[in-house]
Amino acid sequence: MSAAAIQRVAVVGGGISGLAAAYRLRELARERRLPVEVTLFERAARAGGCVETVTRDGFTMETGAETLLAEKPAIADLLRRLGLEGELVPTRPEFKGSRVLRRGRLVPLPPGVQLFAPSSPVALATSGLFSLRGLVRMAFEPFVPVRRDAEDESLAAFVTRRLGREVLERLAQPLIGGIYSSDPERLSMQATLPRFLEMERGSGSLVRALAGSGGARRTAALMGLRGGLGALVERLVRELAGAVKVDCGVLALQRHCRSGGERSWSLALSDGSTAAFDAVVCAAPLHESARLLRTVQPELSELLGTIVYNSIATVNLAFDEGAAPALPRSYGVVVPFAEGRRITALTIVSQKYPGRAPAGTVLLRAFIGGALQAHLLDADDEGLVQIARDEVRALLGVTAAPRVTLVRRWTHRLPEYALGHLERVARIERETAALPNFALAGAALHGVGVPDCVHSGERAAEETLDALFREAPVAERPAAGGVI
Ligand SMILES: Cc1cc2nc3c(=O)[nH]c(=O)nc-3n(C[C@H](O)[C@H](O)[C@H](O)COP(=O)(O)OP(=O)(O)OC[C@H]3O[C@@H](n4cnc5c(N)ncnc54)[C@H](O)[C@@H]3O)c2cc1C
Repeated sequence: MSAAAIQRVAVVGGGISGLAAAYRLRELARERRLPVEVTLFERAARAGGCVETVTRDGFTMETGAETLLAEKPAIADLLRRLGLEGELVPTRPEFKGSRVLRRGRLVPLPPGVQLFAPSSPVALATSGLFSLRGLVRMAFEPFVPVRRDAEDESLAAFVTRRLGREVLERLAQPLIGGIYSSDPERLSMQATLPRFLEMERGSGSLVRALAGSGGARRTAALMGLRGGLGALVERLVRELAGAVKVDCGVLALQRHCRSGGERSWSLALSDGSTAAFDAVVCAAPLHESARLLRTVQPELSELLGTIVYNSIATVNLAFDEGAAPALPRSYGVVVPFAEGRRITALTIVSQKYPGRAPAGTVLLRAFIGGALQAHLLDADDEGLVQIARDEVRALLGVTAAPRVTLVRRWTHRLPEYALGHLERVARIERETAALPNFALAGAALHGVGVPDCVHSGERAAEETLDALFREAPVAERPAAGGVI
């Protein structure tokens, strides 16, 4: 097929990775005057995947992602190109900080803690979060030998080795395990927190490394979007006018040898039709990509299937302010698994971001499930609301019935960055590169955050155009940077 003929590209999956891929494909084709037609297929009734904002009775409720590390180049750049950078809203400074549940009490997260590592041992010592024994163990951190071998190590092993079991149970598990909804015994340090491995190797000690940087490696600004992150999805869908087909899942993929102008791929769609494309970007969760590739590329399919996905549910609950008179002045509560509760975290949304709840009301959001409590998701939606209400009563003393509730389940949607993840992804990428005119994108590859997913989608778009129009490679773009 000549480069002048229209090249049709299918994007499978309309989460933020797929939307970013489709938008970048369109944008580059326009900029470089390439004849490209893009179609995005989304199985659900709406695009956005784990990014969804629901507005009801004056409440702006995020059911999935809520916060952007807006300084990451991929998202900063995308928001600028979409004219949305003015819509970024910072968290409310007057409520800055989080609480950690410790024996039923809400203890302020000590200042100077970088995810789990102390830059100020004094702040930790006076926080009330650790026993004397735990503090003594932590004080030995600078004397713990540096681990030099190149083997991956789990988050649990790393934190216990350097700082002791209490830091794992009371900080690292709820904070890092919470971000990934994973078991810290399985999470890969290399894939999730390479910065901490560098600190260990570079300074011989996390405490020394953090103290050496003045204890104040500036924490990245957390931002929401006015109107919720759904505004980003809406804008992308609008910009992609007509290219986004919702309620249209891809049931099967077939690959053909390109001969006589035939297109390389045919897609069987849930509306009963079949469509032919020159290239495919698969931005669905990898277990779904594995299914689609089973007959096309069995080895790659098998490899994709080795990445485990965990599940979580969010429950938004809105109350009258009078029903919640004793809210802690913070963005929310992280709940260590060791506390034996049935939520992993609770966000006080109306204290975290402005404009999320009408005056005189509060909006809360509870997280239920994850790898350590997957069985809780067996409950029906009413059961999940009841769990959230019970926990809100226990933690915050709120006994009244909520004005509004909203339950959303994210079943097998959170990829686990398990031990050996980097190696597994490198193999996946090698195998994918050997499959002509096919690219993968998504949260399982190089970071679960929305900015990383944007970067992943854009990279897949660029690789796809490179492959379709080999004579005109697309310029290098900045890398996404660290995972968290
Ligand atoms: C509760 C929760 C809170 C989070 N909070 C944050 C946060 O605050 N900040 C942050 O940066 N990140 C957060 N994340 C992570 C982030 O939201 C996700 O990693 C990211 O949105 C994943 O995007 P994705 O496009 O890769 O995958 P998904 O969002 O899972 O999208 C994949 C899409 O593919 C579709 N699909 C699947 N199979 C097919 C098929 N055969 N045909 C067509 N379509 C198909 C699905 O319907 C889905 O829409 C959170 C995630 C969750 C669940």
